[in-house]
Amino acid sequence: MTTNNHYRVVIIGSGPAGLTSAIYVARADLAPLVIEGIQPGGQLTITSEVENYPGFPDGILGPQLMDNFRRQAEKFGTTFITDAVSNVDLDMRPFKITIGKQLILTDALIISTGATARLLGLESETRLMGHGVSACATCDGWFFKDKEIVVIGGGDSACEEALYLTKFASKVTMIHRRDKLRATNIMRQRVFNNTKIKVLWDHVPIEFIKSESIGLDGVRVRNTKTGKESIVKVQGAFLGIGHKPNTELFRDYLELNPAGYIITKPDSSKTDIPGVFACGDVQDDKYRQAITAAGSGCMAAIDAERFLVEEV
Ligand code: NAP
Repeated sequence: MTTNNHYRVVIIGSGPAGLTSAIYVARADLAPLVIEGIQPGGQLTITSEVENYPGFPDGILGPQLMDNFRRQAEKFGTTFITDAVSNVDLDMRPFKITIGKQLILTDALIISTGATARLLGLESETRLMGHGVSACATCDGWFFKDKEIVVIGGGDSACEEALYLTKFASKVTMIHRRDKLRATNIMRQRVFNNTKIKVLWDHVPIEFIKSESIGLDGVRVRNTKTGKESIVKVQGAFLGIGHKPNTELFRDYLELNPAGYIITKPDSSKTDIPGVFACGDVQDDKYRQAITAAGSGCMAAIDAERFLVEEV
């Protein structure tokens, strides 16, 4: 194992939170290491147009925005490793981070591992993922040009996916388990105003049905009120049922809330271990926006810098 990799600050995760931390830590001359994961850039790299990130009045593509963040972090002296962390040991400082056979030591750790798309847990969903079932409209929407598809969920993600998919699909049916969308009013209105989108209320998918050729033949659904089953004939299905925080690595060390998000101390990014900070969606089950993630990334960088000055 390599043991000479000792950093002042290591940041795990490379979404808006992690890269904002990196910009601030790097500008504080602390030469951070960002372990950016196997698919760098976080959730924004699988989004299309970002319309609500301040400073871009005409919108910006998610991957472009994240590339900008990364270049800005790099410019001030951030080092990157494009790999996934296999283990952490937070029992004592310096903290130990293992990536395959490589051991990295750090005086302060910023966790910004984000959250990933939630799945329904159906056997046919696993079997047909990438073959008619998708959790990423931006990645796979193009494959459903002039086809009929469903989007599952009733929150902002589902609405956003449904609206985006109308660029390709001839018809989009949103399948929602209740009779009211959870989404914010502006997204609800956009969905209701789009003639390509219909909502199938009070239904849940119970099976994705494979086509003999490419994609799906349909989705078997159950009415949540009557229990009656039926088939929605579509060629593709997109999941938009929310996200789960990527906290597996830390569950033995840090206090998590019942949904698995890291608990940070009020008005700070501090976790219950001094020197370990968390920012972005991994600790935010409420706002979950790129701009709030970036803001909390800045907080984590400032908290880490102050910790290093005061306590190490
Ligand atoms: P969410 O608000 O938690 O919505 C998840 C949706 O999926 C809900 O409608 C939920 O139904 C449904 N669902 C969950 N598990 C299900 C299951 N097993 N079977 C069927 N349906 C299921 O998640 P989100 O839409 O990802 O949004 C998360 C946060 O990010 C929100 O704060 C949202 O405002 C924000 N966001 C904002 C934007 C934007 O501003 N452009 C875009 C995306 C997300 P119920 O409603 O019945 O619980």
